[in-house]
Amino acid sequence: MAEFPMKCDVVVIGAGVAGIMTAWQLARKGVSVMVCEKGRVAGEQSSRNWGYIRKQGRDPREIPAIIESLRIWERVEEEIGEDIGWHRGGSLYLAETEADLAYYENWLGHARPFQLDSYILSPDEVDAQIGGEERRWKGALFTPSDGRAEPAKAVPAIARAVERLGGTVLTECAVRTIERKAGRVSGVVTEKGEISCEAVVCAAGAWSSLFSGNLGYGFPQLKVRSSVFRTKPLPLISQANVSSTGASFRRRQDGGYTIGRSGSGVFDITPGAFRHFGTYMPALKTQPMRLRLNSVFFKELMWPKHWNADDVTPFEQTRVNDPAPDMATIRDIQAQAEKLFPQLGNIEIAEAWSGLIDVTPDAVPVWSGVEGLDGYFIATGFSGHGFGMGAGTGLIMSELVTNGSAPVDLAPFRLSRFSDGSPTEIYAKSTYPEWKMEAV
Ligand SMILES: Cc1cc2nc3c(=O)[nH]c(=O)nc-3n(C[C@H](O)[C@H](O)[C@H](O)COP(=O)(O)OP(=O)(O)OC[C@H]3O[C@@H](n4cnc5c(N)ncnc54)[C@H](O)[C@@H]3O)c2cc1C
Repeated sequence: MAEFPMKCDVVVIGAGVAGIMTAWQLARKGVSVMVCEKGRVAGEQSSRNWGYIRKQGRDPREIPAIIESLRIWERVEEEIGEDIGWHRGGSLYLAETEADLAYYENWLGHARPFQLDSYILSPDEVDAQIGGEERRWKGALFTPSDGRAEPAKAVPAIARAVERLGGTVLTECAVRTIERKAGRVSGVVTEKGEISCEAVVCAAGAWSSLFSGNLGYGFPQLKVRSSVFRTKPLPLISQANVSSTGASFRRRQDGGYTIGRSGSGVFDITPGAFRHFGTYMPALKTQPMRLRLNSVFFKELMWPKHWNADDVTPFEQTRVNDPAPDMATIRDIQAQAEKLFPQLGNIEIAEAWSGLIDVTPDAVPVWSGVEGLDGYFIATGFSGHGFGMGAGTGLIMSELVTNGSAPVDLAPFRLSRFSDGSPTEIYAKSTYPEWKMEAV
């Protein structure tokens, strides 16, 4: 049982992939680190995602970081001595139309300077990759060096590695606010007591803007609910992470598949949506959207914008964001998958779930310090592709906290881009490969 008050060098808020990977890299450097998690390790996005770890289709601004991320992912199992379900099976984006192929060619042009191993497959090569026989597809974009891991296994395993290196992971321990002295961080106040520290990394997923807003550093961050399911064991037709408009799938260690669809996202209208509507206009112009007004709006309307250290906060009132899956969408994806991939046979659903994806207006993350509060750093806003980027995030944030610099150019990811008058630059379709919104 942890005894408060406590002390360490760095407190990380949130035990998702961003927070745990950051803590792991800091602990590897010998920095004393504590992770505070309001619920359980990887309880939110980081255990609910599809498990794609990919360079393919990325916004070009993210490519240097994702290259670093994959380099780390591929050696995690060896370093921590635990199975995380890592497998290098590649990414395969299927083209149904000539326009899809043209889009993938265009992305290849952006990716060329980075010398990735991505290329276009012919219809016959696609059939060979997925065990099809009908030349149904016009072709595909393929990156053999991309991989996958089992999300529910990976982050808890790395959290155990943090603890073996001397770090601490506290669950059911929401951070309410931070303490400051002379314009810099001096500690955090949790629901259980205080921890003094030199630096804080806010890796609070969809909660990061609410938390930072109380400190005076809010930013636009919305949530999209995405539903997904896993199947009972099915024939192995491809080791690649396969994406198509109707259904996308990846092989699981248990012999089934995780199946979802780009475009299955539902945007629950929240008070934040109204506040940030203007900032999201460029994204809204490139993406049709499916909007829903429901109880989430009224729940979030009740949340305070500002609170004190001794107030009970929304973080401890919602231990784990666990939204219900949209079963109509799940059944539609199941039907599409059976139609598009008959080689899978009858697809039986073993379990369905959903997760809230946090999205920035330009769909790239925030990896940043903040002006006016030394020692406070933010790693969030992964916009539907932060699992794969998790290992890179750990590297970037650990360097930023300890050296004040990072192995990649962080200018596109600075927090101040949302407030310094910079235009919102959005890499159209490819920024939303895991989800897309549509009008109803
Ligand atoms: C259905 C779905 C499919 C996806 N597919 C992919 C994919 O294939 N590949 C990919 O790369 N990405 C994918 N993603 C996105 C990916 O899961 C996320 O980008 C990533 O997990 C974000 O990690 P995180 O650590 O930032 O956030 P989270 O995993 O959400 O973790 C944040 C943590 O912070 C905690 N927290 C918040 N506030 C506080 C507080 N005040 N005190 C203490 N703790 C706090 C929360 O409880 C939470 O556990 C998908 C997401 C979903 C939902």
